[in-house]
Amino acid sequence: KHLPYFCRGEVVRGFGRGSKELGIPTANFSEEVVDSFPSDISTGIYYGWASVANGDVHKMVLSIGWNPYYKNVKKSVETHIIHTFKEDFYGEILSIIIVGYIRPEKNFDSLDALIAAIRGDIEEAETALDLPEHQKLKEDNFFQMTN
Ligand code: ADP
Ligand code: MG
Repeated sequence: KHLPYFCRGEVVRGFGRGSKELGIPTANFSEEVVDSFPSDISTGIYYGWASVANGDVHKMVLSIGWNPYYKNVKKSVETHIIHTFKEDFYGEILSIIIVGYIRPEKNFDSLDALIAAIRGDIEEAETALDLPEHQKLKEDNFFQMTN
């Protein structure tokens, strides 16, 4: 019911869950940004659009989960942008539009099962975001910010 959800904020360091080692880096939003989310938004995996520092708009998958650093009382919001960047972008402003929901959070028996699930999420996001109704959001003025 909160979708599409528009959000902009700084990329901060995460708690090193080693997403990058899995080939799936996730850009973490600051605590302030996470606190600004609707408190009743479901945890789980979402898809949408993302732009770093007013750059090109790319497809993304996003996880809203419980933040182990805060003993799982606070949420974490992490965006994996479906694009290969030359460099990290800590400290940059990340703008996202959350467009759709894929699935709830799950625990996996193995790392391979986790990676397979994320690959599936990425495929689902890629397909869904090609729909004309979602392409429109890619062109949204939200991403045309100049400063
Ligand atoms: P952390 O625990 O600090 O979030 P990650 O292993 O999740 O570390 O890596 C996230 C960082 O990787 C991001 O903050 C960003 O600077 C960088 N990065 C590079 N490519 C991407 C991408 N395609 N999507 C998200 N983050 C990326
Ligand atoms: Mg991360």
